[in-house]
Amino acid sequence: MTLPDAGSAAFHGVDAQALLAALPDPVALLGPSGQVILNRAAQARVAQYSATGDWMALFQGSSVAPIQDAVQAALRGETRQVTVQVVDTVAPGLLTVAPTAGGALLHLHVARDPLEVALELMDGLGLGMTVQAPDTRILLTNDAAARILGMTREQLLGRDSMDPEWRAVHPDGTDFPGETHPSVQALRSMQVQRDVPMGVYHPGEAAWRWLQVTAIPRRAPGATQPKQVTTVFADVTERQQMQAEVRRSERRFRSLVEATTQVVWNTDPAGSLLPPQPRWEEFTGQTPDEYRGTGWLDAVHPDDRAGAIHDWQVALNTGGLYTTEYRLRRADGTYVPMLTRGVPIIDERGQLLEWLGTNTDLSAIREAEQALKLLNAELEERVQQRTQELAQLTRFSTLLLTAAGESIFGLDARGVTTFANPAAARMLGHSIESMIGQEQHALVHHHHADGRPFPLEDCPIHQTLLDGQTRRVDRDVMWHAQGHAVPVAYVVTPTHDQAGEVNGAVIMVQDITERVRAQTQLQELIDDLERSNQDLEQFAYVASHDLQEPLRTVGSYAELLARRYQGQLDPRADQYLHFMQDAVTRMRSLIQDLLSFARLSRTELNFAPVTLNDLMLAAQQNVQATLDAAGGTLTWDTPDQVWGQGSLLTQLLTNLVSNGLKFQRPGQPAKVHVTSRQEGDMIHVSVRDNGIGIAPEYHARIFEIFQRLHRRETYAGNGMGLAICRKITEHHGGRIWLESAPDQGSTFHLTLPAVPHP
Ligand code: ADP
Repeated sequence: MTLPDAGSAAFHGVDAQALLAALPDPVALLGPSGQVILNRAAQARVAQYSATGDWMALFQGSSVAPIQDAVQAALRGETRQVTVQVVDTVAPGLLTVAPTAGGALLHLHVARDPLEVALELMDGLGLGMTVQAPDTRILLTNDAAARILGMTREQLLGRDSMDPEWRAVHPDGTDFPGETHPSVQALRSMQVQRDVPMGVYHPGEAAWRWLQVTAIPRRAPGATQPKQVTTVFADVTERQQMQAEVRRSERRFRSLVEATTQVVWNTDPAGSLLPPQPRWEEFTGQTPDEYRGTGWLDAVHPDDRAGAIHDWQVALNTGGLYTTEYRLRRADGTYVPMLTRGVPIIDERGQLLEWLGTNTDLSAIREAEQALKLLNAELEERVQQRTQELAQLTRFSTLLLTAAGESIFGLDARGVTTFANPAAARMLGHSIESMIGQEQHALVHHHHADGRPFPLEDCPIHQTLLDGQTRRVDRDVMWHAQGHAVPVAYVVTPTHDQAGEVNGAVIMVQDITERVRAQTQLQELIDDLERSNQDLEQFAYVASHDLQEPLRTVGSYAELLARRYQGQLDPRADQYLHFMQDAVTRMRSLIQDLLSFARLSRTELNFAPVTLNDLMLAAQQNVQATLDAAGGTLTWDTPDQVWGQGSLLTQLLTNLVSNGLKFQRPGQPAKVHVTSRQEGDMIHVSVRDNGIGIAPEYHARIFEIFQRLHRRETYAGNGMGLAICRKITEHHGGRIWLESAPDQGSTFHLTLPAVPHP
């Protein structure tokens, strides 16, 4: 079909069908025989209201007559425009009815309801919008509203504000009942309700959404009643959360400022402090009249004023940052050191608006700084100390490893050398490198000192690797690279991994070559000494024994001589004879002492328990003559028993007691007291006298044979007594010594074995 020329050359040749189809407005073409052709927009619209496709179903009844009139007019060749009421829209439509060849063209232009436009617009902005009837039923809604409220459009339409399904709250959490919703209030009061915060429960998310609701009442078009209400709301949940966050951090910031800043102030651009300055008043106690302008300087410490003024002037002149320190008088009259800062506040046009400043209490900051400094110092000290300790430790271990005289080896669990120090390398003639990685036993520990092979299983080091026990070996050998044995003593200590398993061992080896040599030498010396001692004793015994015979002969003849010629020769010969007899007697006594001394070494000792009290009784008997003659006293307190040979011990005590009685100060009666007490396995016997005493330098000498400190004329004796005492004591496994000083008396101490337990 071709449309007739409608007066515009521009349509010439255009496919009228295509044009009609593209037109967004509904268009109907009435043919001469009464048939109706609808374009796509018209078809879609009509389909909603008429199953049969009746074009007239689009219009409300009141519009039917005027349309029919217009069609009649068109058929007559007139074009008419009529205002029509379309069924589904509030706004009226404009229908243009124009004549065509044998028919009419109807073009409907529906002005869209501003409300619909608004709904769409709000949707585009993500804002929810509903229109409610006077009974609060929801008449219209956009998609955003449904989305925000968590419902479909269908669920929303028809619902009213009193529906108990709504769950709404005020920001403080209290209930927000339907009859107080902004939409209801707007309807009731015909006043706009603006930006009312409201929490609405979103069933899909099971969470509260925060809305900001504005409700605008309006009268329905073309009538005074009924009223309607349009509600627009934004979902501010996220904004709310962000604001809460901002408020929180602001609070935090504020408390921070309050904690550190004592005073906040501001001045006009010229630098005058103008009331109100609540913090300044609070801190300084100044009244507005007192601080106004430059009155604030009055609260600054007099000594700091000049500096403060100068700095303030510089800042005002240059418009730069104001920083100064001064002492500010607090309301209680004390001065507080303050760090003062001021910044010029400038608007976007570069105009100076004001100065904003803070005074910060420096004492608190200084205190904190001080505390921090102390803390730092302490920390540093601790670090230094720890560093030193570590350095020392490292130095120590390095020293131990490299400089230690002892050789140190490290072995792994298989007995392979993992480290060796220079001393170890020196001792065994291997380089460190050649030992590391080698099995230690096979390399340096393969044979015993006597040349027998040393099986690994028997090696104490190997056993330590197996059982984790520390072992000490006092005498062993390790083999030098050149084939000779090095006598060693060593300690093998296991090392453990983190799980506690033995993962190796450290061996500290001491080269005991020198010690072994010294021991050998000492042993040889001892053997030598023993031999020569034996020789000497043999000699003394033989000598004294053999000397007795000729002495007896000399003695006998001297006696014979004396008996036969006494008084017949001149007096001098008698005197000579006397000397001779005397010498023989002394010689005999000397020889007997020497013989008994020498015999001591040869006697087989038969040890038995001996009661000291019995020994003392025997000794007392032996010295009875002396006691009777010189009138001394002998007492004892000896409750113990000793383990020894009675006859020798009697001789020992007799010698000591008789010395005590003998070496007396002239005119002073001798007192000898003997005591005993058990000390461990030994009995300690002390023989104390009140005699002449012995100077310390002679304490050792008097125990040697024939050593005396006095002429025989003063105190008789051979100088063998104490030598015999020592020999007897030592034969019993004891010790003899003395404590004495001249004129202080002497105490001879000796130890003898106690009776052993059965
Ligand atoms: P001696 O036969 O002279 O007593 P000893 O060997 O018993 O020989 O004593 C050696 C010397 O030790 C004595 O000559 C004496 O000088 C000194 N001496 C021994 N016992 C005592 C004592 N109890 N008080 C003072 N001096 C003593």
